Amino acid sequence: MRILVIEDEPKVARTLVKGLEADHFAVDLAGDGEEGLQLATEIDYDGIILDWNLPKLDGLTVLRKLRKSGSNMRILLLSARKDVSDRVCGLQAGADDYLVKPFSFEELLARVHALLRRPQELLDKLSVEDLELDRMRHMVTRGGKPINLTQREYAVLEYLMRNAGRTVTRTMVVEHVWNLGFEGLTNIVDVYINYLRAKIDHGYEKPLIHTARGVGYMLSSASQ
Ligand code: CA
Repeated sequence: MRILVIEDEPKVARTLVKGLEADHFAVDLAGDGEEGLQLATEIDYDGIILDWNLPKLDGLTVLRKLRKSGSNMRILLLSARKDVSDRVCGLQAGADDYLVKPFSFEELLARVHALLRRPQELLDKLSVEDLELDRMRHMVTRGGKPINLTQREYAVLEYLMRNAGRTVTRTMVVEHVWNLGFEGLTNIVDVYINYLRAKIDHGYEKPLIHTARGVGYMLSSASQ
């Protein structure tokens, strides 16, 4: 997978390039919006990490120009702006995800992986081992046995299953399941994970919900 990083702050850029390369991505770096737009137009990247505040051409303009030209590359927008209105603005301009600076590299990496796995979203049925989620019927079963979930539990589980095998951070779960105003209230995720564990893993030999210490959670058939 090849990723383009458009970031002018040398320290942040270095961290991103080094970290992504260590995770086996091929990474190109552009130090300003103009160069970034040119590279993104010429090369078919799997994903772009785009800083909002850039010299020559700002990130939002780059984003709009790319979308206007018909590009459907996965784009993660980075910004120091943490207001809900800025996030909405970024997403409306065509970003697939938005991450507020400063961030941990683990948070960024989890988001990049989720971003590149988006096609999962289109499946009607998701399954991990003997756990199945039927989106059409809004039904969850484990080992064929129906499991009753509240709407919120279902939403958390659906997000975990969509990203099965990958760590999702608490913030990612909050953003996808609650509304934007809940940001920062990531403890609520732990509460719902406990509810889900009681319903999905309790009484079964193989737990499917795993804790990624200090980062978040992962739904996976692999034991830890
Ligand atoms: Ca910048």
